Amino acid sequence: MSNIRNFSIIAHIDHGKSTLADRILEMTGVIHSKNNEQVLDSMELEKERGITIKATTIRIPFKASDGREYIFNLIDTPGHVDFNYEVSRSLYACEAALLLVDVSQGVEAQTVANAYLAVDANLEIIPVLNKIDLPHAMVDDTKMQIEDMLGILTDNALKVSAKDGTGVPELLEALPDLIPPPSTNTDKPLKALIFDSHYDTYRGTICHIRIFDGSLKQGDKIQVKSTGKQYEVEEVGYFGIRMEKSNNLEAGEVGYLCAVIRDVKDIHVGDTIISADHPNTDAIPGFKKMKPMVFCGIYPINTNDYDKLLKSINKLELNDSSITFEKESSAALGHGFRIGFLGMLHMEIFLERIRREFDQELIATMPSVAYKVIRTDGEELNIENPSKFPTVQEIDHIKEPIVRTKIIVPSDYVGSCMELANSKRGKLVDMEYPDDRRTTLIYDLPLAEMIIDFYDKLKTVSRGYASLDYDFKGFEKGDLVKVDILVNSDQVDALSYISERESAVTKARKLVHRLLKLIPRQQFKIPLQGAINGKIIAREDISPVRKDVLAKCYGGDVTRKKKLLEKQKKGKKRMKMIGSVEVPQEAFLSLLQVQGDDNKKK
Ligand code: GDP
Ligand code: MG
Repeated sequence: MSNIRNFSIIAHIDHGKSTLADRILEMTGVIHSKNNEQVLDSMELEKERGITIKATTIRIPFKASDGREYIFNLIDTPGHVDFNYEVSRSLYACEAALLLVDVSQGVEAQTVANAYLAVDANLEIIPVLNKIDLPHAMVDDTKMQIEDMLGILTDNALKVSAKDGTGVPELLEALPDLIPPPSTNTDKPLKALIFDSHYDTYRGTICHIRIFDGSLKQGDKIQVKSTGKQYEVEEVGYFGIRMEKSNNLEAGEVGYLCAVIRDVKDIHVGDTIISADHPNTDAIPGFKKMKPMVFCGIYPINTNDYDKLLKSINKLELNDSSITFEKESSAALGHGFRIGFLGMLHMEIFLERIRREFDQELIATMPSVAYKVIRTDGEELNIENPSKFPTVQEIDHIKEPIVRTKIIVPSDYVGSCMELANSKRGKLVDMEYPDDRRTTLIYDLPLAEMIIDFYDKLKTVSRGYASLDYDFKGFEKGDLVKVDILVNSDQVDALSYISERESAVTKARKLVHRLLKLIPRQQFKIPLQGAINGKIIAREDISPVRKDVLAKCYGGDVTRKKKLLEKQKKGKKRMKMIGSVEVPQEAFLSLLQVQGDDNKKK
């Protein structure tokens, strides 16, 4: 029997996955210092935000008290709904999942969603009750919820405090028996799943793989099942704290693989790697490709950087396989790309990674969902970019994406959550009572409303207690119009957006007012207008700069002058010339704030 155990940790956000991973690493001697927090959140962005974005694999040697030695491959996963794809992929590399539940909170929306992902992947689910050190720990209630809401038995549920380490040694001792060992068909031809990948500046494309059959070593000839392309293996190894080279990888193991893969586009997460000598080996049933929900345009600030931007996207796509992208051009912004994301947090993180990891300045346009436009001639168009909408005369009706939303909230906050959902055009579908303290609200909500700031608002109105999960439901007819924005009488395609008809005028007025504050003044007057089908519905003018203001800036004190110039240079970095007007990056995202403000007043 194999001594390998592959498992991942899944949970609702903040229930303690990364903290438990830290304790496990410490107690098994993989890391030494206690000051090392959230070791697996190694990305700069993860540390800054205190959230896990990427699933991370680590190999842990463990010696049980009976003297037996095991190898654990642990995959820590993100908890936010936007990164569910990271979770579902990682699960395919494992035999079991530790389902961590914070006993001060109980089962929450993402606990349920993640548990179902594990069920779908046929994993053994091991319930673990965390944070038992807290004074208001509700161990028995939480157990009951796990049984009632998830149908998972909790008689032998492990109880731990990931923070102070209580119960973690017992957990480690129990894992070898709780997690089924992988099957080890070393004699069969190679079959390995690419469950993740990343780009390394020195080594190029690196595949994260789980070997199901056969084995792999340097010099082996492999083939990517879907493309038929063949490569020679340059290096294989494990994921320690760093990547550690090894002689070979065998069935049941998790590790990495480097080969000379010239074109990063040749590798797809979810693909199967087989031996070039056995080209007829079956593919491993891949996981479902995710459908992006939110789209935005990205454009290089400097037009010459187009190719560099394309290369950066290709490389980042290796490590974030859930995006989609295609070329797009805008009259205002030039050549760029339309990128599809799983949600707003995903989009924010992706753009920030392009900026940081590839040192690429860019302009991102207002995010939009995909619409279905049914033309008067009956043809149905799928449109991801508002500026590509047909004219009003050509449109019969518009359908927008709807998400079925599940909100679990303590009963005291049900009223304020319902008020919020109603203000976001939500339709109440059902109410359930998972236990005597809490209510589950099921709503159908337009995705366009969900993506803006629904999650943040929900947290605010419920003092942080509500949890949320959503699934795409389908497209439904909406009363929607396209609003165009004109800067200095030029229509700026990248600023067009789709609005529900009722609030279109108010929103346009607020947006134009915001732009007035964002766009720097020039020596001439700049009119800013909002229009529906050519009819102006909002207008503000940016007044010209007076000469003496300029004089003040450029005269006198040298250090002050330098500082101002520095400031200007920085500001310029994310500006784009539209006609003769400079428009800053913030302008393209200002609709987000407008809609955000909208709710604050309510
Ligand atoms: P993740 O989002 O599931 O990875 O959660 P983290 O590991 O980042 O933990 C979220 C927060 O809960 C952090 O502030 C941890 O310090 C805290 N936390 C985690 N485990 C425990 C525990 O057992 N007891 C207490 N009191 N706090 C914990
Ligand atoms: Mg985490």
